[in-house]
Amino acid sequence: MHSDLIGKVEKARRYAEEPERIKFSHLKAHFNGGNSEHEIELKDNHWTCTCSFSHTWGTCAHIMAMQRILTPMLTPEAIHDTDLKLDSATVEA
Ligand SMILES: [Zn+2]
Repeated sequence: MHSDLIGKVEKARRYAEEPERIKFSHLKAHFNGGNSEHEIELKDNHWTCTCSFSHTWGTCAHIMAMQRILTPMLTPEAIHDTDLKLDSATVEA
C-alpha cells in the first residue's frame, strides 16, 4: 500500500476512537420499532419521528434511543431538544 494511504488509514483509526470530533447536522434514518418501521430525522437540531407517540409528546423511544446512541456526535442543542417536553410530560425514567 502507498505510504500516504497507510498514514490516512492510521489517522482514520484514531478518529474512529474519537467520535466527539463528529457532529451530525442533519440525518435521516429508518428505525425498526418491532411492530412497525419509523422514520427519524434530525434537522436544525430538532428531532422528528413518524410514530404517533412523538406527535403527541414531541419525543419517543426511537428519538431517545438515537440520542443515547449518538450522544458524542450530537450538538448540545440536539441532545436537549426534547428536554422541555419531557419535563412537562412527567415521564418516569
Ligand atoms: Zn418514534
